[in-house]
Amino acid sequence: MNYTSVSHPQLGKGATAFLAKDLRMLIDGKWVAAKSGKTIDVEDPATQQIIASVPAGSAADIDAAVRAARLAFDKGPWSRISPADRSRLIWKLADLLETHADEFAELETIDNGKPVVNARRGDVQGAIDVFRYMAGWPTRLTGETVPVSSAGNWHVYTTREPVGVVGQIIPWNFPLMMAAWKLAPALAAGCTIVLKPAEQTPLTALRFGEIIQEAGFPDGVVNIVTGYGEEAGAALAEHPDVDKIAFTGSTAVGKRIVKAAASNLKRVSLELGGKSPAIVFPDADLEHAIAGTADAIFYNMGQCCTAGSRLFAHASVFDRIVEGVVEKASRLKLGHGLDTSVNMGPLVSQKQWDRVTGYIESGRTEGAQVLTGGTSTDKSGYFVEPTVLVTTRGDMKVVREEIFGPVVCVQRFDSDELDSVARFANDTDYGLAASIWTRDLRTAHTLARKIRAGTVCINTHNYVDPALPFGGFKQSGWGREMGKEAVEHYTETKAVAACL
Ligand code: ADP
Repeated sequence: MNYTSVSHPQLGKGATAFLAKDLRMLIDGKWVAAKSGKTIDVEDPATQQIIASVPAGSAADIDAAVRAARLAFDKGPWSRISPADRSRLIWKLADLLETHADEFAELETIDNGKPVVNARRGDVQGAIDVFRYMAGWPTRLTGETVPVSSAGNWHVYTTREPVGVVGQIIPWNFPLMMAAWKLAPALAAGCTIVLKPAEQTPLTALRFGEIIQEAGFPDGVVNIVTGYGEEAGAALAEHPDVDKIAFTGSTAVGKRIVKAAASNLKRVSLELGGKSPAIVFPDADLEHAIAGTADAIFYNMGQCCTAGSRLFAHASVFDRIVEGVVEKASRLKLGHGLDTSVNMGPLVSQKQWDRVTGYIESGRTEGAQVLTGGTSTDKSGYFVEPTVLVTTRGDMKVVREEIFGPVVCVQRFDSDELDSVARFANDTDYGLAASIWTRDLRTAHTLARKIRAGTVCINTHNYVDPALPFGGFKQSGWGREMGKEAVEHYTETKAVAACL
């Protein structure tokens, strides 16, 4: 198939021109093919049409990228750049993203499948906001003077230094935004980077590489290597000259990253899976709770690590909540994400379609009742209808494992006792997020304290902000993204002790 001829009526000039290019990887300021010459086809998941191909980078390409990043960190102009100039460059990225926002949104949609309206307002805007927020950090990364107690005359202080060369491996659910969450704090801290986008969704990362160059970053500061996880990703996680690896993806791969990182004890931060509870109390604004909990699971076709996939409704409002969420699900319009009237696009790939429909089948087999959805549509592409399962129990696979699709398991609870509510909310290996729906301040904040999750939302779900640390308890990860913590995770603390 000749992918360069692919066009879509809603695809603008910028995105069309980008897709027509011979796409390469960015290593040391140059656009290069994989050393092996191999490529990966990129698919529009709404049509299953091949729309581009990108290099299939492997260990040799990762090695070249790491060498470039090492040189840029140790010797290049980046090693001498002032904090204010780092800020200026990062801010420029936000400005350039804003200039090309529609193009980025369209590329994200045709690559990932998500509705273009969400791509523009959520993904692209979110990326712009993260770069603007992080642009403020270079001039604010200070150490401390420390009042030591040793005998003598001491001047003791700490400094924060960039951790060095960072490998960043990102997923396919929010491709550009995940790149922004990783790149922005690392650049703010003064690191150099090798970024590996997901093989399913490499387009916006490569387009972003062009913006990196346009903004004026020195060669080798940001390198972008496309490739499969088991090849390029694994090589990056293992590489002895990488000082830190930052990963977002599945918990299973996260555990592999930890093992690979042990080779040189590189620093690791992980943002992994979730099975987040949304808990609705009888005193909640029920219309708001219905809309919010439906959105918590169906936004981005359920492909959010924080998705509210376990919905707990108090027995006294259970029927109303279920009826409301089913009704919301039935009103969502599925279709090609470039159609601006569409609410839900396809899942990202055949693999995800198989996985999600497999879970729905497993739920049925274990006794769950499918109230709505549960099948794909008659369209080509990896569409799965928004699905509501009831009569689910805490021991079912659909309740225990992350589905990463538009499938919610609704369970009833009777107790008004918050310790017992917290027990079922916490009955999971994960601890990424949770939401509590109530008008009662005491209920909200007491339960928020008892839930073991990195983000607890009250009367909302899937809430993120560049200033707010984001990450997980338990098997949802290590460390935090965004906020001050994210930047600090890209630094080492140095203690300087001067005997005067
Ligand atoms: P999914 O299974 O949903 O595709 P993954 O966790 O496998 O999610 O993918 C997230 C990212 O991790 C992608 O960029 C992928 O290429 C990468 N990846 C997958 N396997 C490995 C691995 N063994 N080592 C390093 N990175 C990997």
